[in-house]
Amino acid sequence: MTNEEIWKTVLGEMELMTSRANFITWFKNTQIVDKNNATLIISVPNIFVKEWLENKFNKNILQSVRNHCPEVKQINYVIGIPLPPPSKKPTPSYEVFLEHQTREGNDFFIDVDKDTNLNKRYTFESFVVGPNNELAHAASLAISKNLGKIYNPLFIYGGVGLGKTHLLQATGNQVIKNQKVKALYIPSERLVADIVSTIQNRTIEDLKYKYSQIDILIVDDIQFIAGKTATQDIFFSIFNTLYNKSKQIVLSSDRSPKSIPALEERLRSRFEGGMLTDIGIPDLETRLAILKSKCKEKKAQVSEKVLNYIAANIQKNIRELEGALNKIIAMQQISNMELGIGESEKLLNSYLNAPYKRVNSQDIMKVVADFYGLPVQDIIKRSRKKEVVRPRQIVMFLLREETKASFPEIGSKIGGRDHSTVMHAYEKIKKEEQENEITKQELVLIKERVYNQ
Ligand code: ADP
Ligand code: MG
Repeated sequence: MTNEEIWKTVLGEMELMTSRANFITWFKNTQIVDKNNATLIISVPNIFVKEWLENKFNKNILQSVRNHCPEVKQINYVIGIPLPPPSKKPTPSYEVFLEHQTREGNDFFIDVDKDTNLNKRYTFESFVVGPNNELAHAASLAISKNLGKIYNPLFIYGGVGLGKTHLLQATGNQVIKNQKVKALYIPSERLVADIVSTIQNRTIEDLKYKYSQIDILIVDDIQFIAGKTATQDIFFSIFNTLYNKSKQIVLSSDRSPKSIPALEERLRSRFEGGMLTDIGIPDLETRLAILKSKCKEKKAQVSEKVLNYIAANIQKNIRELEGALNKIIAMQQISNMELGIGESEKLLNSYLNAPYKRVNSQDIMKVVADFYGLPVQDIIKRSRKKEVVRPRQIVMFLLREETKASFPEIGSKIGGRDHSTVMHAYEKIKKEEQENEITKQELVLIKERVYNQ
């Protein structure tokens, strides 16, 4: 029997001898810490428990223990720190951070309701209103209360990462929360793909019927419909059906209808026929408010100074703003402390509009060698030892990725190796980067050092 098993059995027997409340009071957080033949050592959380067990329960405990381990002659109780319960949440690492990052622009497939395609994460409550999006926000809110009656279509346009998708989805979520209506959110690439496949399968009428049943149709990034004649035809027909039934249509685009090239004139004039509003770049105050709201959402503590620093330096894209914040939060969790302005500056170096830092091959070799605890010469030398081979492959990979050197160039820098060796190393690490979490994490950490040393 293991110590743990012995103690479990003993506890089982003790439990039968006392009341439940007593049992919990005196036996909670106890465990066997050592057993050497005649003596069993039990750790207890405090002096009260120690005395109580020694004076009141020792005989019973000893007896119970001896039923299973007759060699034990005495028990010592020591006050010890109970082991922390195994943590359910693994230490967040760069993996988590990276995973989050890659999700950002592409979370269409995550937490998504399969009937509406809406993601609950996006709500009006979590949308910070500032002068840049005030009008778009007000219009969205208004239509959500009065579908198809006020602005139809509502067309929201603006640059990447400024909150169009958030607002569109918030509108959809708000509508289905309060009313029994059919909503559908669809990125236009998906719409195009759907239409193309119905053309191939000759099921256009089914598709048209499906869309005609919707009360609010939200098409994100409609600019991608440009130039696709058959798709525009069918979309025009869907649009008209809904419009004529006073069903709500909401569209977003990265630019105004006028600036979408190869958009059929009849669609353009439809798009302009309702409410046209843009989302601009948020001012400093709004950026700061967004950061604070995200901190709250993520239940993370980041100092005011650091938030100010991020808000001041990342201006044009809220997705990046959030990405930078995530990076700070991940680092704080890894290091278990609040970051100061200096560390944040370093950490965000690659994000900020800092002039592009050119790295040279020496830097990369040195950082990788340090990272794996090897002398730099070992990277270049002709050793085939396993602990050298992989770091060397990482160096080749990074030289290719970060300095854009050619394979033969890299080969000659690393001890005159053949370009096919370099190519092989590059492919291998590239694949690992995509498939192996640990490699991914190592590469992030190494690059951080290369760029921030
Ligand atoms: P777009 O569709 O315009 O490219 P998104 O709607 O995807 O931009 O926004 C990018 C990220 O920024 C999302 O995580 C979104 O939640 C966040 N975001 C954008 N605007 C706001 C805002 N006003 N308040 C809170 N978060 C915002
Ligand atoms: Mg979007």
